[in-house]
Amino acid sequence: MTRSKDQLKKYRAKRNFSKTKEPKGTKSTKAKKHIFVIQKHAATALHYDFRLEIDDVLTSWAVPKGPSTNPKDKRLAVMTEDHPIAYAQFEGVIPKGQYGGGQVIIWDRGTYRNIKKKDGKLVPMDQCLKNGQIEIFLNGKKLKGGYALVRMKDKKNWLLIKMKDTYADARRKPTSTQPESVKSGKTIEDLKHIERKGGK
Ligand code: MN
Repeated sequence: MTRSKDQLKKYRAKRNFSKTKEPKGTKSTKAKKHIFVIQKHAATALHYDFRLEIDDVLTSWAVPKGPSTNPKDKRLAVMTEDHPIAYAQFEGVIPKGQYGGGQVIIWDRGTYRNIKKKDGKLVPMDQCLKNGQIEIFLNGKKLKGGYALVRMKDKKNWLLIKMKDTYADARRKPTSTQPESVKSGKTIEDLKHIERKGGK
């Protein structure tokens, strides 16, 4: 199953690109490595957008509490519309009144690999997505190691869970201790402050 660029219809319909600097996603940008990005987004409710490159788009979930490094935490992850690959570069302010209005920072990013196996064989990512059973190994700046995304029975909500491995750490709490962008070093509060001053 290959998903076409039409996957981004919903994404575009929600946005006015003459008013927001978010990418339109009209160009097909094929990345060689599979990327992931986690954007901290201070919209109406603060959340972390967890995005995985699958089939030329960023498959996306909104995680209200953000990711944990503790395997005992099961973090709610609500699937949202696919985003263009170029969105992984986006950091800045979505104007007030626009869809998702608020500050966005790139909280973490890097590459990932699929580690989901069945009968000793890797299950292709698009199949994992269909099955609602994703297991990936993240190589980010803040997050590393195995993470599982498991779809619940209601079919919309998923759980994001740190898998047990050497990178698991119940005490680390990176969302509290490392709130800054891995791109600019800025925090959401820094962006709010810049906005208030009306400058850069
Ligand atoms: Mn968001």
